[in-house]
Amino acid sequence: MKRGAKKILFVASEAYPLVKTGGLGDVVYSLPHALKARGADIRLVLPGYRALLRQLDAVRILGWLDVRGADGMVSARVLETRHPEYAFPLWIVDCPALFDRPGNPYVDADGRDWPDNAERYAVFARVAALLAQDALELGWQPAVVHAHDWQTGLVAAFLADQPGRPRTVFTIHNLAYGGYFPHGDFVRLQLPGHWWSPEGVEFHGGLSMLKAGIVYADAVTTVSPTYAEEICTPPFGYGLDGLLLSRRYKLHGILNGIDTRLWDPARDPHLPAHYSAGRILPGKRRNKQALLEQLGAHVDDAMLQAPLLGLVGRLVEQKGIDWVLAAIPVLLAESDARFVLLGSGQAAYEQKLARLARQHPDRVFVAIGYDEPLAHRIEAGADLFLMPSRFEPCGLNQMYSLRYGTPPVVYRTGGLADTVVDADEAALAEGKATGFVFDLPEADAFLAAIRRALSLYREPARWRQLQQTGMRQSFDWSVSADHYLALYSQ
Ligand code: ADP
Repeated sequence: MKRGAKKILFVASEAYPLVKTGGLGDVVYSLPHALKARGADIRLVLPGYRALLRQLDAVRILGWLDVRGADGMVSARVLETRHPEYAFPLWIVDCPALFDRPGNPYVDADGRDWPDNAERYAVFARVAALLAQDALELGWQPAVVHAHDWQTGLVAAFLADQPGRPRTVFTIHNLAYGGYFPHGDFVRLQLPGHWWSPEGVEFHGGLSMLKAGIVYADAVTTVSPTYAEEICTPPFGYGLDGLLLSRRYKLHGILNGIDTRLWDPARDPHLPAHYSAGRILPGKRRNKQALLEQLGAHVDDAMLQAPLLGLVGRLVEQKGIDWVLAAIPVLLAESDARFVLLGSGQAAYEQKLARLARQHPDRVFVAIGYDEPLAHRIEAGADLFLMPSRFEPCGLNQMYSLRYGTPPVVYRTGGLADTVVDADEAALAEGKATGFVFDLPEADAFLAAIRRALSLYREPARWRQLQQTGMRQSFDWSVSADHYLALYSQ
């Protein structure tokens, strides 16, 4: 360990590749590695979900911590483990009553929140706050605790009035998930009474763990500069915009990077063929063919020539799936476009997409579920990537698609606005364009942007330039990691 290296404790509810439901898991993997590469000394605390524990080989027991749960005290065993994908130790909060259960970290098999989520993440936060104060006397005392999203919002609150405490940073990856619980949970968990006020964790008569993070952390960050502005305004603020505006002095928008080692078309192990900005063909075309074949298509020349529109993501309203559902039939009728869509989420969206695939078996290919290799193959094999999110804190998929030479179609919001340059005539002429951005949050504007894209796709030279400009953008973590280090030092 480097003498004098800054000690940073990461606290999060998911981390690639152990447990991941979305972009949060990617960031919690990539950012601490970028910080470590800059000399920081990192530990990452995660809940001991069943699926996570099963992936661990050797674990060492660091000790036991007893903390208050919903019905008395809860005993948590703290484990330390090394994982081949991780360059620093992981600390696992092993508490079987709360985390040893099947499936998704946050919801049951029917998609309903686990009924004891308040207790699960309050206990997790209590243990993390104790570890941040070296309660197990391991001789490792962080200078900074960096917690992520509502599941860890209470960490900063538990630390706030502790003497000699580390500084706290709280990152909002998505303000739409507030960690709201009834007042009864606040009482049962015996959270400190003085927190219960509109200046504290109280939100419309309930408890908001996200609000706790915003109120009590020394610094609050979110994952793009535009989203940092947006969440201080009513349509994006979910009722927290006033609070965020009053805390603007400690709110920072730092764009996420992407892991350019895992997402690189020149060496991605999930791809049947590799390519780069200097030589896109024939590699990208081979990926398109293999992808279509994998999905059961009878691939001929016409199909390879036709534009293939891809989508990967959670099937929820945020992602503009209703606009996609509205656009597909129109595009099927007026163009030769094909579609390949991967996602899971709201049952109604899943069913509607599956129905479209049944109605158009040679043109619409749908995979419902979570499939990391297929996500890579879609980024590589599609010609155009659809990401019409109504709001998007940062978004990773549009950056992956830029890097894979698959120009994205995005709404001008949050991180999408910060990472994609619209292919208007001026930007094309200057060689700055990377994708297609629409300005009105409605289906027709999305459709118009796709039509512009399909028209440019028919001009191979200009299309190739668009692809190359996107592929040459630098979205690696180095710049963002420097911003975080500067913030930790403040
Ligand atoms: P969000 O965090 O809102 O889900 P992001 O674009 O920031 O959106 O990150 C989503 C991440 O999850 C990306 O790495 C994306 O590839 C991945 N992902 C989402 N849905 C799926 C899926 N069904 N299969 C594979 N990967 C998925």
